[in-house]
Amino acid sequence: MPGWILPSGLVGQPDVIRVFSGSARNDGCPAKLALKARPDVRARIRRPYKPEKLETFFLAPVMAVLDLAEHREMPLDKALGVLARPDEHVDLVREDRIKPVHGGVLAWTAHAVSQFLEAWTPPENDMRPVRGNWVDLQRLRYPDHRGARQYELKVWGRGYVSADGQVRELRLPTTRAGRRPRSDAELAVIARVLSTGTPAFPAPGVAGPANRIRVVEIGCADGSASVVYERTSDEAARDFAEHGRDALSTAVDGTTFLPGQDCVDCKYSGSCPALPRVPGVLGISDSTKPRRSWSVTNGRRYRECAAHDHLRRVQLPRSLDIEYGPSAMRGKVLHRWLKDRHARRPLVPCRVEDAELWTDGENELPEEEQQRVRLMIKFHSRLCPLRHLSRDARTKVEETLVFDDTEADVAIIAEPDLLYEDSGAWVWREVKTTSKEITLTRAELLGRYPQLALAVALLSRSALGGRTRGARVELELLSPAGPEIDILDPADPLLRERASAVLHDLVRRWHGDQEFVASPDSYRCSRCEVAAWCPSSAEAV
Ligand SMILES: [Zn+2]
Repeated sequence: MPGWILPSGLVGQPDVIRVFSGSARNDGCPAKLALKARPDVRARIRRPYKPEKLETFFLAPVMAVLDLAEHREMPLDKALGVLARPDEHVDLVREDRIKPVHGGVLAWTAHAVSQFLEAWTPPENDMRPVRGNWVDLQRLRYPDHRGARQYELKVWGRGYVSADGQVRELRLPTTRAGRRPRSDAELAVIARVLSTGTPAFPAPGVAGPANRIRVVEIGCADGSASVVYERTSDEAARDFAEHGRDALSTAVDGTTFLPGQDCVDCKYSGSCPALPRVPGVLGISDSTKPRRSWSVTNGRRYRECAAHDHLRRVQLPRSLDIEYGPSAMRGKVLHRWLKDRHARRPLVPCRVEDAELWTDGENELPEEEQQRVRLMIKFHSRLCPLRHLSRDARTKVEETLVFDDTEADVAIIAEPDLLYEDSGAWVWREVKTTSKEITLTRAELLGRYPQLALAVALLSRSALGGRTRGARVELELLSPAGPEIDILDPADPLLRERASAVLHDLVRRWHGDQEFVASPDSYRCSRCEVAAWCPSSAEAV
């Protein structure tokens, strides 16, 4: 079996392999997973360390407050006070690596911690918290076929052990317990680490072997709890052999580069052969700010309210009933239908008859909106780009694309409705529905739909590859007045200039912002899906 080869542009020793149980899911970029598993490998050209001022992971402060409560025996209100006023607790903050949080994240943390503590009571009444991540450490006498001398398997979560050491339990904080099923592979790796590993800070009762392994998900949003794994140590060993080992091998041996959301914090992004670079496309020449991702959706959210964008980015739980009004829901349903249709292979163009065949399978729309969807399908079928393509033409349907603006140090995420190849050139099609007829010039369209500005800017730099001649952006506008198509030529200098201005305007303030102060407004806040956590929204409503 051939060893794993260090990609060019990287230096260091690949002899320590360190993986978290989540790697067994094998999602995201395979090459990044493998690189992440080798902590002593780094980019030849080091990037400066540019941390965000505020915490960017919504469970980090929950863990920090629970650490203070469980391991430093601090009352909850005091522990939350450390988070609220980090300046007054400098030593503690440094020691426990606590980052300042946004006011919305502070409110979430208070809620989450109390839910976590109340959600679950184990059958044993003598479970005690154990400090630090659990690690299963294996040292090899000789390097193996990967050149590895040491394997470290780790789990993230909160560990507990019974007084007699017989039961080991991992509680995994999440938003709602059982919402995302965990794979057999991931659970098998967690169970293996709990069964044969030790916590980072040794505790009484964890020296000898345990009998029983339990993994419990705790929903910090709704106080739910779900036991997702409970077996003996022998069963855990068998589960690891059956499901865990191969999944981890796949994770540490990956060599395929798959750009995506992963590119934001990848140490290899500077040399990645698969990540297209578009220096300066956002019009910002300042790489001193923390590296981030950005999409047009982020830009629009930020323009309305900086706190809204930040709280969504850190993944605070959102109120699901606020997110979609009937017209937004109609757009979502139509896009889903188009995606299914356009993804068929060989390609089949949409037909007028499809409109009558469509039904609201999920029962998501009122009758009036259902009629509108049928009308939009009818209109779309007249303009369906697949009508003019061969059945095996290259297309990309709602694929996530990433582009690295190295001058701004931003990974740009885009999801075109449809990309198709026409005589060797890429065509970027965006479909928009509107309940009113709109009459705008091409330049005005870019301001109204900034996705078009991004599309023009990217195609004008040949960021998608393919032929330049014939590359274009198409806006398919479906309104009650009928279908309409606008073709935007990325070679048009006026259009390019306008596209750059629209993008720069959306990104400029956000790029330098590290505080994300809310712009409360009673109408906006009443429709904001993370307003429940935002202290400013309470004042506005
Ligand atoms: Zn179509």
